[in-house]
Amino acid sequence: MTVHTLTEEWILAYAAGGLNEGQLLVAACHLSFHPELVDAVHEAEAVGGALLSDLPDAEVSPDMLATVLDRLDRPGAAERPVEAARIKGMPDPLTAYIGGGYDRLRWRVLGPGLRHALLWTGPDGQKAWLLRGEGARVIPEHGHSGDEWTLVLKGAYHARGERFVAGDLEMADPSVHHIPSLDPSEECICLAYTAGRIRPRSPIVRLMQPFIGL
Ligand code: ZN
Repeated sequence: MTVHTLTEEWILAYAAGGLNEGQLLVAACHLSFHPELVDAVHEAEAVGGALLSDLPDAEVSPDMLATVLDRLDRPGAAERPVEAARIKGMPDPLTAYIGGGYDRLRWRVLGPGLRHALLWTGPDGQKAWLLRGEGARVIPEHGHSGDEWTLVLKGAYHARGERFVAGDLEMADPSVHHIPSLDPSEECICLAYTAGRIRPRSPIVRLMQPFIGL
């Protein structure tokens, strides 16, 4: 059984400001589904300096992190760009980050019935992106050259014999091979963070990879 929420290690890193912008975006959106984890973040913050000194250095400059945190945490930040109440089916931190709803984004075709929109690219090629699909779509079997976090925002998908629903986070590392398949009951939208590239098993998908950009 895999864990469907942010692990303790990453809650500590979040509290210590040790996440990069893409991880921070996914974590903030995940926490908006899980008030109980927000309590854990506050506890981690309260534990303070002793633990923080053991963590690896933040991958982002303090200035950049402060800017992102400001964008994510500022009261009313979600309302300002859209001048409206919450956007249905979208976590507030994501609304604040992209400054509006899903229609603002440039969606590119990823495969039949699947589209993706790039949100952020990190200094070492890390990416934060959205995946959107309808019907019984399957992401071709792949491994990973780095961490991959997938947060379900809407709908559901199956992978590794488990079902991931809205608010669930699947954390995959280079040891994981999976074949995520979308639940056909409704449209599925996921927010993903990937460090490194995915490693498709199929040579045909590998040939297409440069055009997909993931
Ligand atoms: Zn994957």
